[in-house]
Amino acid sequence: MRHSAAHVMAAAVRRLWPDALFDIGPDTEDGFYYDFDLKHRLTAEDFPAIEAEMAKIIAENAPFVREEKTREEVLEMMKARGQTYKLERLADIPEGETISLYHSGDFTDLCRGPHVASTGEIRAFKLTSVAGAYFRGDEKNQMMQRLYGTAFRSQAELDAHLKMLEEAKLRDHRALGRDLDLFSIQESVGPGLVHWHPKGARIRSIIEEFWRKEHYRAGYEMLYTPHIGRAGLWETSGHLGFYSENMYAPMDVDEQRYYIKPMNCPFHIQIYKSRKRSYRELSLRWAELGTVYRYERAGVLHGLMRVRGFTQDDAHIYCTEEQVETEVRECVRFAIAMWRAFGFEDIVAYLATRPEKAVGDPARWELAQRSLEAALKAEGIPYELDEGGGAFYGPKIDLKTRDAIGRAWQMSTVQFDFNLPDRFDMVYTGPDGQEHRPYMVHRALLGSLERFFGILIEHYAGAFPLWLAPVQVCLIPVTDKQIAGAREIAAQLKEKDFRVMVDDRPEKMGAKIRDAQMQKIPYMLILGGRELENGTVSVRSRVAGDLGAMALEAFVAKMDAERQVALR
Ligand SMILES: [Zn+2]
Ligand SMILES: [Zn+2]
Repeated sequence: MRHSAAHVMAAAVRRLWPDALFDIGPDTEDGFYYDFDLKHRLTAEDFPAIEAEMAKIIAENAPFVREEKTREEVLEMMKARGQTYKLERLADIPEGETISLYHSGDFTDLCRGPHVASTGEIRAFKLTSVAGAYFRGDEKNQMMQRLYGTAFRSQAELDAHLKMLEEAKLRDHRALGRDLDLFSIQESVGPGLVHWHPKGARIRSIIEEFWRKEHYRAGYEMLYTPHIGRAGLWETSGHLGFYSENMYAPMDVDEQRYYIKPMNCPFHIQIYKSRKRSYRELSLRWAELGTVYRYERAGVLHGLMRVRGFTQDDAHIYCTEEQVETEVRECVRFAIAMWRAFGFEDIVAYLATRPEKAVGDPARWELAQRSLEAALKAEGIPYELDEGGGAFYGPKIDLKTRDAIGRAWQMSTVQFDFNLPDRFDMVYTGPDGQEHRPYMVHRALLGSLERFFGILIEHYAGAFPLWLAPVQVCLIPVTDKQIAGAREIAAQLKEKDFRVMVDDRPEKMGAKIRDAQMQKIPYMLILGGRELENGTVSVRSRVAGDLGAMALEAFVAKMDAERQVALR
C-alpha cells in the first residue's frame, strides 16, 4: 500500500510539474519516498497541492495494471519520455529477468510490484518531508529531491504515527544537546566527531563509573589499549582485507606504517598472547571503554547516532567449550540488567545463525548457536531467528529495546568469533597438557557511549532521572540576603556528593524557577528568610511542582533514596 502511495505521489508530481524526471520510489520502514529530478525546488509549501492531487487520484480509484515488456520496448518508451534515470535503472535489471511496468490511470512506472488492486485502497496518507539525495547515494552524482510520505490503513493509525513523529522532533537529541549544553559537533574539527561539554561529560562519567563498578562485580577485568597499531597487526586480524574502507588513511612513524584502530579486538588478543594461558585461568572477561574511529560517508552521519569517532563499551570473553553456555547466558543477563537500570524494559532479540559462506568448525558453530538460543530461552526474552544471517566468523544475538515513544533501538550484541582466534593462533593448555583453541566472544552492552547518550537524551527528552542528572538541585535564594545561606546549604549537599548549583543571578524568582525547569533540573530549593531561620527548605520538583517545606535532612534522605540505582 505504501509503495502504491509512492506511485500515486509520483503521478501527482507529474501532473503538477510535467518536466519531472523520476528515479525510484520504494516503501520504507514507516512510509515511502520518491526521488525526483525537478527544476522546481520542492518545499513543505507544495505539500497541500501535491496531497490534493493525490486525493484526486485516489478518488479516481484507478486499478494498478501490471504489464510485462521486453527490454527494447521499455528502452524505447523511456527514451521517448526522456526519463534518463529510468534508463539507468533498466540497465541494472539482469539479462533474462522479467521486466514489468505498472499502470495506474495516466501514470506508468518501471516496477517489480506488487501493488494494491487500485489507488482507492490507499486510505490515510500524508507527505512528511523533502530532502536532497544523491542519485544512487553517490556524492559524485546528480542531487535529486527526495519527497517523503507515509500511509496507513486508517486515519487513527496515521494520526498516532504523526503524533509520534512530532514527539520525536521535540526530543531530538541534537536540539536538546544544544539547549541543555550537553555536546557539540563542530565543523572546524570535523563532521562525526563529538565534543562532550561539562554537563554531557558529567553524565558520561556517571555512566562509566556505574558501568565499571558493575563489570568488576560481574567478574570482568578492565583493559586500556593503544589507539594506533602497526599495519602487520591489521593484516593478521584481516581488517586491512575486509574492513579497509572503514579505516582512516595510515600514518608513517619511523618508516613503519600505522593505522588508527577501528576496533579494539586485536589489542585484547595481544594481551591474551602476552604469555602462556592455562585452562585454569579461563574464562577471561576483559572489558574496555575503547575509543575507535571508523569512516562513515558524510551523508549518513547523524548527531550522536552515527559518528566517526566513538567509545565502545567493549568486552571480549575467552573460554573453554564447557564454559560457553554459562558465559553467553551471563552476557545476556548482564545486558538486560544494564538496560533496565537505565530505564529500558521492553527487550527483543534477534538470533543470526551460520551463513552459506563461513569460517570455523561446524561443530563449534552448532554449540555456539545452541548456547545463544538457550540463553534467550532461559532469560525469557522473545526472539526472532535470522536463519543464515550471521557474520561469516560466528553466530550472534542482537538485542533491541523500545524507548519512551515506542521506537526500537539496537543496543547489545553478543557475537562469537571463530576467525580471530585462528588468525592470531590463540591457544590455552588444557587439563590434558595439550594446546586448545579458546572460544572467543565479542560483546557490547550499551553499544557506543555516543549513540547510547543520544538514545538516552531522546528517551528521557533531556529530563534525566536523578542519578544521571548533571545538576540535581538548583538553589534559588529569594533575595540577595539569602545568597550566603544558599551557598552554605549547597556546600553541605556537595559534601554528600549531590550535584548542586546556586542561582544567584539578579533575576526574579519566577524567572529562575522557569530557567531551572527549562534546564530540566530535578529539584529546586526556594530559600527565603523564613526557611533559612527554621533550617527548612521549600522544595519544588521538576515533575510534581511544589512539594512544600521540609527539613533539610528530610530532603537529603529523599534524594538519597531516589538516586540509588542497582542491577536486578
Ligand atoms: Zn513501483
Ligand atoms: Zn571485538
